[in-house]
Amino acid sequence: MDDIWCEVYRAANVLEAHSLKGMLESSRIPVRLQGESLSAAAGELPADVLEVGIWVPQSCLIPAARLLSAYEQAEQPGWCCPRCGEQNGAQFELCWQCGHDRDA
Ligand SMILES: [Zn+2]
Repeated sequence: MDDIWCEVYRAANVLEAHSLKGMLESSRIPVRLQGESLSAAAGELPADVLEVGIWVPQSCLIPAARLLSAYEQAEQPGWCCPRCGEQNGAQFELCWQCGHDRDA
């Protein structure tokens, strides 16, 4: 039975599209990417500047959108300072509380 497919998300580039596709497929949601083959065929623009549409069957639209919004929120994860346990934003290299180096 053929489902109706809907675009649930536009990835900023092919790499993001593939990582999202993998994430959705691991939740047993079938995914089609649209725009990827177009960019390859055009051969003029680098693949990483072309948006890629992520399409899912209509029956999977809601769980897919939920996963994608969780992905967007998790995209910039903070980090927990191993010394003092403070939560820091992803943009900070040092703990704002105790100055501990993130990568130390
Ligand atoms: Zn700290």
